[in-house]
Amino acid sequence: MPELPEVVVTLRGVVPHILGKDVQAVVVRESRLRWPVSPGLSEQLCGMPLLEGRQRGKYLLFRFPQGHLMIHLGMSGSLRIVTADTPAAKHDHVDICFTDDTVLRYSDPRRFGSILWVEGPPEQHARLCQLGPEPFAPDFNGDYLYRLSRGRSVAVKAFLMDNRVVVGAGNIYANESLFLSGIRPMLAVGKVSRQRLESLAEQVRQVLGKAIEQGGTTLRDFVGGDGKPGYFKQQLLVYGRGGLPCLRCQTVLREIRLGQRSTVYCPRCQR
Ligand SMILES: [Zn+2]
Repeated sequence: MPELPEVVVTLRGVVPHILGKDVQAVVVRESRLRWPVSPGLSEQLCGMPLLEGRQRGKYLLFRFPQGHLMIHLGMSGSLRIVTADTPAAKHDHVDICFTDDTVLRYSDPRRFGSILWVEGPPEQHARLCQLGPEPFAPDFNGDYLYRLSRGRSVAVKAFLMDNRVVVGAGNIYANESLFLSGIRPMLAVGKVSRQRLESLAEQVRQVLGKAIEQGGTTLRDFVGGDGKPGYFKQQLLVYGRGGLPCLRCQTVLREIRLGQRSTVYCPRCQR
């Protein structure tokens, strides 16, 4: 499933190829995504230049003069750049075609993604207005986590994975950053000290930053071909390693279910 790093890298991979270009046509081969593709996209976009591409949480926001195209990759969505003569494959549902024959192509086998047209500030859209800060924003820090978590008994891992707290800490990244900051995932978040939460915020940034950096080596995968951009595999310290020895202390890593998600931790390194 595409996580925040894949979204950031997708943007870096596709935006330079289409920025400032005018849309010539929009081809919707399949509109039944998680929500129907906004009708009338062609009328909204044709003749309009792409002014900017940015990301908020896992949403890609493409700014045009009259509004934003808001794309979510869902479980299996991907975007790539092809030329107008590249035949569409089975799951290539939407093309945004530009006047120089560059095409931004959306592919999604499971169709859990979405492509919506938003007028007005997208940050106020129902899907975005509740989101917590971006992990790399200055307002995501130990003080913020401390203030938000006092009196809460929810497990620190579930808290971290809540989009309203911070965006981008998906299951893999939550497991890894809790290990790196030495915090046991099932601890009540309200009991975790300010100092440890500061470390947690820093490790979330480190882990996501590393994933983005590694993904940067795949940028050329976003252009051409019929392949789908590969999602990058990081070297993981705990996720997927339940029952194996901790890479730091050799203690056997424990795997439990926490909020239905696989949770792996080291009973010695994480307290
Ligand atoms: Zn350990």
